[in-house]
Amino acid sequence: MKKVVKFGGSSLASAEQFKKVGAIIRSEEARRYVVPSAPGKRFSSDTKVTDLLYSCYSLAEADEDFETVLAEIRSRYDEIISGLGLNLSLDDEFVTIRKNFKEKAGVDYAASRGEYLNGIVMAEYLGYTFLDAANYITFKEDGSFDDMVTNEKLSACLEKTERAVIPGFYGAYVDGRVKTFSRGGSDVTGSIVAKACRADIYENWTDVSGFMLTDPRIVKDPEIIETITYQELRELSYMGASVLHEDAIFPVRKAGIPINIRNTNSPEDKGTMIVANTCYKPKYAITGIAGRKGFTSISIEKDMMNAEIGFGRRVLSAFEKAGIPFEHMPSGIDTMTVYVNQHEFEEHEQLVLSEIRRLCEPDVIELETDLALIAVVGRGMKKNKGIAARVFAALAHSGINIRMIDQGSSEMNIIVGVESKDFEASVRAIYDVFVNMEL
Ligand code: ASP
Repeated sequence: MKKVVKFGGSSLASAEQFKKVGAIIRSEEARRYVVPSAPGKRFSSDTKVTDLLYSCYSLAEADEDFETVLAEIRSRYDEIISGLGLNLSLDDEFVTIRKNFKEKAGVDYAASRGEYLNGIVMAEYLGYTFLDAANYITFKEDGSFDDMVTNEKLSACLEKTERAVIPGFYGAYVDGRVKTFSRGGSDVTGSIVAKACRADIYENWTDVSGFMLTDPRIVKDPEIIETITYQELRELSYMGASVLHEDAIFPVRKAGIPINIRNTNSPEDKGTMIVANTCYKPKYAITGIAGRKGFTSISIEKDMMNAEIGFGRRVLSAFEKAGIPFEHMPSGIDTMTVYVNQHEFEEHEQLVLSEIRRLCEPDVIELETDLALIAVVGRGMKKNKGIAARVFAALAHSGINIRMIDQGSSEMNIIVGVESKDFEASVRAIYDVFVNMEL
């Protein structure tokens, strides 16, 4: 049995948190490869080390004095080192970092030091081998991640290394320049390491006991999803739910390795299993609810539209020309509505409208802003009757007007459009009808 364990910033924010992490790792032999993030916030008004590094480097880049911020960063690590009683000095590391900041080694290099240093501390604490991610995680010249080269180098190395710490979030180009993933990218590193060592499971340790059925800012203490498929997760994340970095799914999904989201502060909780497929029935008829505000709809009406070949293509080409992706496109007999992100649309509004007028000669174009889309997702929908009815009844009972309905052909989601002002009430109503009134 081989496990890759990734710990997020809040799990490694202080010596106290490190101790919890140490206990978790030592409690199972199989937890052989560890991917740490940089130290996160210790309390809500605290600053993450990664954010400190970004501000420190921007001072360095502007030839301003960055010593105070650098000292603050250093003190975060020293506090952890002394709290753990380690005999480790980061003097040499900080000499190098200071020198490289002065020489303007790049913002990615700067940001990556958070994970790099935490990796050194973690390896010392656990007695594991430290592997600098810059030597293994490889990027192509165009900035994209090089899956093939990385997998080759990393799996060869891990085969020979019994236990190792590999810092998250960064890698390097072939010439050695450091490059990071986007924010939250240690999740991606964990997934890459899991694939390279052919792990049985990728454990992603964070500060929640799993993936919640809906946004806890909207519904108080929502239920935790026990098992979710990659496909369901993708749908929910796309609609705004966030626990994992979006790109973290791909490496393990390809390799068929499940992800287990766990809580460092409550290790006895089972967390959420993210799997390719499963015969586990979801506890409720739906797996999750997610949504986003900030959409605009553009409705185009034209008599006999349905008989006009190429009409839809022409409408969409107006959006394509302006570089605006569309989210949904429900249609009626002589109407077609395109949902787009309001902020993406605003800038090009007149360009798109005049192009639609020119290409399609519609009777009416109507715009509506401040809309929200809500996705009700679940693999259990296919076999269950009346799911849509319950969604709509829940909204109707709460006096919410539904502006749009869309059900994917995979029958794994129902998407409803409502006015932004009704967004939170809609999510609560749907949650209630499926979780609190489960028949
Ligand atoms: N430390 C990085 C960030 O704050 C990466 C990570 O934590 O995954 O975005």
